[in-house]
Amino acid sequence: MVAEVIKANELIKVDPVFGQPSFNDHEQVVFCHDKDTGLKAIIGIHNTVLGPALGGTRMWSYANEWEALNDVLRLSRGMTYKSAISGLNLGGGKAVIIGNAATDKTPELITRFGQFVNSLSGKYITAEDVGSTTEDMDLIRDVTPYVTGISESRGGSGNPSPVTAYGVYMGMKAAAMHQFGSSNLSGKKVLVQGVGHVGETLIDHLTKEGALVQITDINEEKLQLVAAKYGAQIFTGEDIYSADVDIYAPCALGATINDNTINRIKAKVIAGAANNQLAVEQVHGKILMEKGISYAPDFLINAGGIINVYAEIVGYDKAEALRRTENIYNTTLEIFHFADTNNITTQQAAMQIAQKRIDDKKKETAK
Ligand code: NAD
Repeated sequence: MVAEVIKANELIKVDPVFGQPSFNDHEQVVFCHDKDTGLKAIIGIHNTVLGPALGGTRMWSYANEWEALNDVLRLSRGMTYKSAISGLNLGGGKAVIIGNAATDKTPELITRFGQFVNSLSGKYITAEDVGSTTEDMDLIRDVTPYVTGISESRGGSGNPSPVTAYGVYMGMKAAAMHQFGSSNLSGKKVLVQGVGHVGETLIDHLTKEGALVQITDINEEKLQLVAAKYGAQIFTGEDIYSADVDIYAPCALGATINDNTINRIKAKVIAGAANNQLAVEQVHGKILMEKGISYAPDFLINAGGIINVYAEIVGYDKAEALRRTENIYNTTLEIFHFADTNNITTQQAAMQIAQKRIDDKKKETAK
């Protein structure tokens, strides 16, 4: 059976797995099935040149298996570049469990999944993601050492979101330095889209620095709570993208920078936590560059979470995780400099630097 994809405006037939654009040089893809527990999972191991492939397990009600396969491949590739650009000795991997986390998840299913992770002997290390929790990771820890994000009481690194938010804050300050000539955010109008785990802590940092924060969320109750707690203003305009702000921080979902929104954006800096903010990397990254908008690549500035769980593998402490996360400021500035010097987008610059780290390591190992 072959699938069809559109490439260069032409419909072409490709092989179902190796031929998929999202397959993108994956080293290994593992399909896990257990009839008794109903487990259907896919583990994607994109690249292990820099170290074991670490990435979370997402449990989601995918419309079909193609969607699940495409998601795990796209996400595991993203992890390769996130860890490489962050200087971590980790490769990229990710897992998906097909099913509804609220209704289909059982301790038996999670334990069975953990046994599959264990069967890979450490080539893949799992963690939390959408639809999986610290409690799930604790269950997995009972059957394999190849899991991070377990409870602090069991020696884990705890909730990664505050560390992620700190890294986003550092990346935003670097982008402000690039755009405005100063990293000081006092008086800057910042729109935070999504006031969840990461968004809320980011708002805390921003308000403490004196930024003029506006917030938006589809969860009205959370929005009111966060507004009251930090004195942030709820965005009331018709269109958040054309909001008259200096900085736009996407902290909800991906692909918000797309054909529909990109020409309405008035902000001069984009820096947020959401994964895959650019709907089409090459297209929308270039338009941002042409419009003179300083875009801090998402996979670089939202790496605080993985830096935090990496501590569980190499054994450093919270203070060291925060120090490494703070360094996102310097790395982001370097990316802007590299992009400007080579007249490429910041997304391309970050990808190139990450790829070079992988290639150098590969050459070194081959010697
Ligand atoms: P979260 O689920 O806690 O918060 C997301 C918030 O966005 C929720 O309050 C939700 O109501 C809101 N939201 C959803 N759709 C929206 C919309 N259309 N408009 C406005 N608000 C909307 O998630 P989180 O952990 O805070 O993560 C935020 C983003 O950062 C996600 O894209 C996540 O993948 C990414 N990220 C998170 C981490 C981490 O450590 N938590 C690490 C890396 C990347």
